[in-house]
Amino acid sequence: MASANTTSNNNDSECVLCPGNHNRNRPSFCQCKHCSIPLCLDCMKEHHEELLQDVAEMSHRYNELQELLQTKQIMIVDETAKSIENVNRYFDVYIEELRDIRQKIIVNMEKSKQDARVRKETCNA
Ligand SMILES: [Zn+2]
Ligand SMILES: [Zn+2]
Repeated sequence: MASANTTSNNNDSECVLCPGNHNRNRPSFCQCKHCSIPLCLDCMKEHHEELLQDVAEMSHRYNELQELLQTKQIMIVDETAKSIENVNRYFDVYIEELRDIRQKIIVNMEKSKQDARVRKETCNA
């Protein structure tokens, strides 16, 4: 991140970055609108380069976040589809098992009825 980490300069007509960055003193050429600090032409160029790099880095990070977000969204959509598939499959299996159980119960009941009839006939004989 570019920052003007300089001690307060009482003399606004001197470049604020020159002493720290280049160990020199120069008259200021203009003021950075972004940081409100007086700068010489060379430092202004450097400062702008840094700001541009910051912007490039931020937009790179933004793009990365966008990609991450997209990946997550796709993952959520995929996971939801998979979950629905799983629920459907489990229900199909359970329904099939319930049908089997129903069939067995009916068969057992028929068998009981048959047994009861046979016993009744045996008793009557
Ligand atoms: Zn300078
Ligand atoms: Zn600035």
